[in-house]
Amino acid sequence: MTDTYNAADLPFPGSPVVPEMSDGSKQMQFRCRKGIACWNACCSNIDISLTPYDIVRLKQHLDMSSTELLHKYTVPYELEPGGIAGVKLRPVENGTACQFMTAEGCSVYQDRPTACRYYPVALLSMRKQDEYTDTSSYALVKEEHCLGHQEPRSLTIDEYRKEQGVEEYDELARGWRQLILKKKSSGPSIGKPTKRSLQLFFMVCYDTDRFREFIISDGFTELYDIPADEMKKLLTDDTELMLFGFRFLKQVLFGENSIPLQEAAAEKRRERVHDKSQRIEHEAREKRAAEQDDMYEDHED
Ligand code: SF4
Ligand code: SF4
Repeated sequence: MTDTYNAADLPFPGSPVVPEMSDGSKQMQFRCRKGIACWNACCSNIDISLTPYDIVRLKQHLDMSSTELLHKYTVPYELEPGGIAGVKLRPVENGTACQFMTAEGCSVYQDRPTACRYYPVALLSMRKQDEYTDTSSYALVKEEHCLGHQEPRSLTIDEYRKEQGVEEYDELARGWRQLILKKKSSGPSIGKPTKRSLQLFFMVCYDTDRFREFIISDGFTELYDIPADEMKKLLTDDTELMLFGFRFLKQVLFGENSIPLQEAAAEKRRERVHDKSQRIEHEAREKRAAEQDDMYEDHED
């Protein structure tokens, strides 16, 4: 398999540092520790993009709804001009520091976002090699203010990722990265995304609690045939709902069907497809007949 993902959530999109790419086996020298002279410098001037799973973890940590979290702690941004949106952490009012920064360090440390875990490593791209393995390329970002690079500790990028708990975060963001890549690469062939599809993408990927309300609405349940035990999971488990959301978007936006439709809805859909192909055939027949008439007229002239 050769699925490739763009670096949609580069931790340091605005960084002036031009990093050198490497794989996970590269050795790095780094340690961040309480008491270091630059303590909190990295969290004082933030540019942190969030993945859907980051949002799930943060909302659970803060015990608030995704809607509230998005409103209070994030700002939307365009992953590409006029295209799908991402969200970033919103800094403190009139400042650049993270709202979660305290003198003791990060107040959401156990559930800190992917980009914070990765720092000072940046994930540049992720390629699924086969069903079980990924190959990824990384860069080490050396910013002047960060003294962690002078600490006497060596480890590989893979070891660092493991230590920081990044693997689970990457795995659970995979479906989202695939969607972004698909959306970007489908570009002009399917035209500009509609406002509705952009709103749907935003709700499903970032506003889990609104998506949950959506899947219990009549419109959704009349169309999709979700087994009762799966529906129960979706109503109680944010991560399951997020993963289901990626499948749902693949189905709605790219026709990759994995969620069964209710029989009546499926029948209606078949009828619509049949009517459409009849209409197209009819129009093509009329066009051909008109062209033939023109030809005869030209001939008689
Ligand atoms: S979430 Fe925590 S680690 Fe990340 S920028 Fe904010 S304070 Fe720093
Ligand atoms: S060592 Fe780097 S990552 Fe750690 S507090 Fe200092 S600036 Fe932040």
